[in-house]
Amino acid sequence: MCLPIPRIPRSDSLIWNETFMGEFTVKSSYFVARRLLGWVDDIDDQQRQIWRQVWRANTLSKVQYFIWRLAWGLLPVKQILQQRGMDLDGRCVVCGEGEESINHAFFGFAFSRQVWELSTPWFLFVSMTGKENKTYGSA
Ligand SMILES: [Zn+2]
Repeated sequence: MCLPIPRIPRSDSLIWNETFMGEFTVKSSYFVARRLLGWVDDIDDQQRQIWRQVWRANTLSKVQYFIWRLAWGLLPVKQILQQRGMDLDGRCVVCGEGEESINHAFFGFAFSRQVWELSTPWFLFVSMTGKENKTYGSA
């Protein structure tokens, strides 16, 4: 490595090689971690386009983050809590008929579908592109 000697003396500083300007960002560290762990993107171009729309949507970042957690199966519904070792009744507390999974809680019964249709009809398109309880990666 050959670094030029600066004309104006300055003190040494830490440089993050993963960004163009040398400044650390959480986003760049995420991609470094994915690369080091050998995680590959297993989303197709259509899903990538949908995620681009979600991240660029004119909405609160907490809404984007919620959608991301929803799609990746990271919300604490009973099915996931059971998978993590919690001993609890997995039935839905609202209808009592199905297992409380992300798919059931958010898309599985009439009430939740009505909420989506009235609030954000575009989101039903996003939800139909994934499979039930599918996570989009190896996280
Ligand atoms: Zn239910």
